[in-house]
Amino acid sequence: MSQERPNKLVTRFAPSPSGRLHIGHAFSALFAVEASGVEGRFLLRIEDIDRGRCRPEFEDGIFEDLAWLGLTWEMPVWRQSDHMTDYASALGRLDQDGLLFPCFCTRKDLQQEARNAMRAPHGPDGPIYPGTCRHISRGESEDRKSAGEPYALRLNMIEAAKRVGALRFHDRGKGSVEVDPASCGDVVLARKDIATSYHLAVTLDDAAQGVTLVTRGEDLLHATHVHRVLQALLDLPVPDYHHHSLLRDPSGRRYAKRDRAETIQALRDAGHTPDAVRAMTTANLQEGL
Ligand code: GLU
Repeated sequence: MSQERPNKLVTRFAPSPSGRLHIGHAFSALFAVEASGVEGRFLLRIEDIDRGRCRPEFEDGIFEDLAWLGLTWEMPVWRQSDHMTDYASALGRLDQDGLLFPCFCTRKDLQQEARNAMRAPHGPDGPIYPGTCRHISRGESEDRKSAGEPYALRLNMIEAAKRVGALRFHDRGKGSVEVDPASCGDVVLARKDIATSYHLAVTLDDAAQGVTLVTRGEDLLHATHVHRVLQALLDLPVPDYHHHSLLRDPSGRRYAKRDRAETIQALRDAGHTPDAVRAMTTANLQEGL
């Protein structure tokens, strides 16, 4: 029998193959490896649910860049597009529990709503969904679905919050954080074009992969509130969290996939060594402190 130590940490790096990795990703991946500790396990997950934006060459680029940085990860690599049936069955359960509603709003409708209600509550992703389709009768939504109108599935957050009661999660930097479901609104759990969403897939995968410490940028701290609610609704284990600071370019902007000059590939082509790139991530963060 394996004598696995119960406190062996499992961390992961979960990029989307929609562009080449940049120096901010390098930092995030190194942070996850470091956090797993000497005896821990480091996993790699390819977040490729958005088939329209993901490309096989970018997935190859992820493996190439991480290997060049000297990182190793456990095989096999988890690919989200292989797990669509798991996402569908979780959606089925939430639907049966009466926690989902179809949302027919178009992007334009949502923008219009936001303009009409300038003082409407804002969350980290912009205006919080005003609940328009939450009030549509079952009969009307069935008719609209049968007529072929596209719809997303949203979580009824008011109802979800009632069911799960007060929740907290632990962040290694911030300590115990109280979940604020109202700050998230009725998040999308299945997009119109994709039968899942970032929130649902990530929460299910972290549980299925046995991740015990989720490390990611502090720009995703708000998402953890949603994930904690989903864990409670779906009886999933609750990992520890560490939301790290973000690397910034010299003008103070966070790195993004548009910053082609700062991709790991470009840095490598410019003659930098893996050690130099590692050092850059540390130096960048110290400058920003
Ligand atoms: N796929 C996400 C990203 O590339 C990260 C998701 C996560 O770490 O939870 O930003």
